[in-house]
Order: sequence, then structure tokens, then C-alpha cells
Amino acid sequence: MKSVLFPAYRESERPRCPFCGQPFGRPPEVDPKREGDFYKWLCPCGAIGAYDTTGHNLGDALMEAIAFAYDDDLEKALAMEPDKDYEIRYLDGYRAGEHRVLGGGKTYKSGLGAFVFVKVKALRVIH
Ligand SMILES: [Zn+2]
Repeated sequence: MKSVLFPAYRESERPRCPFCGQPFGRPPEVDPKREGDFYKWLCPCGAIGAYDTTGHNLGDALMEAIAFAYDDDLEKALAMEPDKDYEIRYLDGYRAGEHRVLGGGKTYKSGLGAFVFVKVKALRVIH
């Protein structure tokens, strides 16, 4: 069976979760009414994605994603350590209009969006 090719973009440019490779849908255009208002979602693999429309606030997007990963418990999230308790991966060079990611290394340009993904490594069971 042949895969359907869309002329507008190549398969390799489809935005995918950096953890599992699962393509994800177009995020809603969030009007940044206030700082830290990021669209977040849960990938089927368990990673949390956060979308920064401008690519300039990834640090804030990251914090929100981490908090989201820990049930919006910011205190708990802050107690966790990157690389030990969770892993961070970035995806940038996102063209929202075309819903594709510009490949090939240094693609950073202003006006492009970016994503940050957080995946909790192993859930600590606390009783
Ligand atoms: Zn995933």
C-alpha cells in the first residue's frame, strides 16, 4: 500500500513527538493573553507537549509542561530533577501556517514556533 504524499510537505517535516515519533495535530493558535499561557497536551506515549507560538518563551513553556506532568503540582514538579526524574526534548522551527517543522539543523528564525516535551521517566510511587 502506497502512503499518501501531501505536496505541501514531506513526511519528514511532519511535527512529531521527539520521544515516540508519533505525529501530532495542529495545536490551536493560542493568543498569548498573558505570559505563560501555553497550549499543552498529552502524547499517547506519556510525554507532555507544550507549544510556544513565538519560540521565545520556551523556558516558561517548559515549566508549565513539567507542572502539568506532575498534576499541576508545581511544588512537586520543582522538587524533581531533569534527566533523573524526567527528560526534556525540544522541537523548534515550527511553521504554524503550514503545520510543519523546518528540518536541517539551525533553522531558528523569529516568528517560528517551538515545542518542548517533557516525559516523566519513572513514576515515583509515594504512599
Ligand atoms: Zn510521544
